[in-house]
Amino acid sequence: MSSKRKITVAYGDGIGPEIMKATLGILEAAGAAIETDVIEIGEQVYLKGISSGIEPTAWDSLRESKVFLKSPITTPQGGGFKSLNVTTRKTLGLYANVRPCKAFSPYIHTHFPETDMVIIRENEEDLYAGIEHRQTDDVYQCLKLISRPGSEKIIRYAFEYAKKYNRKKVTCMTKDNIMKLADGLFHKVFNEVAKEYPDIEADHKIIDIGTALIADKPEMFDVIVTLNLYGDIISDVAAQITGSVGLGGSSNVGEDVAMFEAIHGSAPDIAGKDIANPSGLLNGAIMMLVHIGQPEVAEKISNAWMKTLEDGIHTGDIYQEGVSSKLVGTQEFAQAVIERLGQKPENMTPAEFKKGDGADDNMGAIKLTERKPCKKELIGLDVFIDWKENDRDANVIGDKLRAVDADGLKMQLITNRGVKVYPDGMKETFCSDHWRVRFFNADQTVISHGQILEILKQVEALGFDFIKIENLYTFDGERGFSLAQGE
Ligand code: NAD
Repeated sequence: MSSKRKITVAYGDGIGPEIMKATLGILEAAGAAIETDVIEIGEQVYLKGISSGIEPTAWDSLRESKVFLKSPITTPQGGGFKSLNVTTRKTLGLYANVRPCKAFSPYIHTHFPETDMVIIRENEEDLYAGIEHRQTDDVYQCLKLISRPGSEKIIRYAFEYAKKYNRKKVTCMTKDNIMKLADGLFHKVFNEVAKEYPDIEADHKIIDIGTALIADKPEMFDVIVTLNLYGDIISDVAAQITGSVGLGGSSNVGEDVAMFEAIHGSAPDIAGKDIANPSGLLNGAIMMLVHIGQPEVAEKISNAWMKTLEDGIHTGDIYQEGVSSKLVGTQEFAQAVIERLGQKPENMTPAEFKKGDGADDNMGAIKLTERKPCKKELIGLDVFIDWKENDRDANVIGDKLRAVDADGLKMQLITNRGVKVYPDGMKETFCSDHWRVRFFNADQTVISHGQILEILKQVEALGFDFIKIENLYTFDGERGFSLAQGE
């Protein structure tokens, strides 16, 4: 039996084939024990009419190898093509996106030479669930879904990562001063999990100031764990300030499968010219080697790569007059790395990977806390209505809906874009055509689904177009919905 580990490889689009050739050449020269299975993804597949951008048979290879080294692809504009990255992450349950962002100063120009952080981004939930609706002429909705298991999984992964790689601090970033329930859940789970790791400092920052600090004092961060959208944004900020968007690799880790790639795109503007920097994909491949239990090969390549940077052998994107000694193309850069295999950087800290690093020892498989289901009680209803008559006068819609009554379930207030406009609204509040009408029993006791159906019947009979409803629940007596501004 071959002792080589099978990996699935996709050459991708644009500069993808060039940087993959360079990367695999280095891996082979370094003695990586891998056997590649090449699959088709990207533009050619999209243009065959497969909207996911991946051949259906390619999933079999991924299921078998469980490791995917992927070059960037070009997503054709328009035409309903789905992002292959989002599809792959969700289909294979790759819940953790791990992006190390490190400065390689003075060889790569940066204002922040001390930067050395790892961003761990939740990969499956949040606004990326892709559930969007247009509800009225004025209003579009995109649902933000945050789950407790999803949050716990990524937060535990971040602490396990910190423990394994000897990192000292994990910072959580959310916007829970505004999204008290959704982001509040993530922060709450972070606090719960942090208690189990007393040797690791736990910190929380609101995402706006957190992003500003990444851009100004990146050295204060070590591991950052955050929600999908915030993670998407801050990882580009962090990569940019290290001066190395073209150098960064990333991994997408699930319980079963992991995908490794460069953080940049397919760079069609420089494709086919042999000038692209292969370092981003190479760094992704280094993470892959650690993951599949070949840390000594990863270490050898990483050190040779740093030595190449130190020797000033640079591709055009990082070439600096006075720092660089030779301008090289993609394959010549790879050759320079190959020639330095076995050497270590002299000024930068050499890489050190231990056996047992990575996820082959099951780091992606996180055990979640068992919880008893809560006692869930239905105590109210929000009915959303599309209405644009009478100059959108809240008093007109409010006075009409006052008549609705289903066994004591009655309207208590109306909001427009979250602000209370009836009763006692302010005339200055701008109203869209999207109204939320909130119903409770007078004493906020439990209501029935029958009462809800009766409310909808009466709302319709009054001539209103209801566009959706949300049930209002308590969980073990705790309110499971936000209050309106002014409620
Ligand atoms: P890009 O990252 O491809 O390019 C941005 C700029 O950086 C360009 O000027 C490019 O020449 C340069 N650049 C990127 N990688 C480089 C490298 N290795 N060496 C030297 N220079 C490099 O971003 P874009 O132009 O916004 O996107 C191009 C295509 O890539 C789009 O179709 C986009 O959808 C796709 N994309 C794919 C992925 C992926 O597959 N993971 C990620 C991002 C973008």
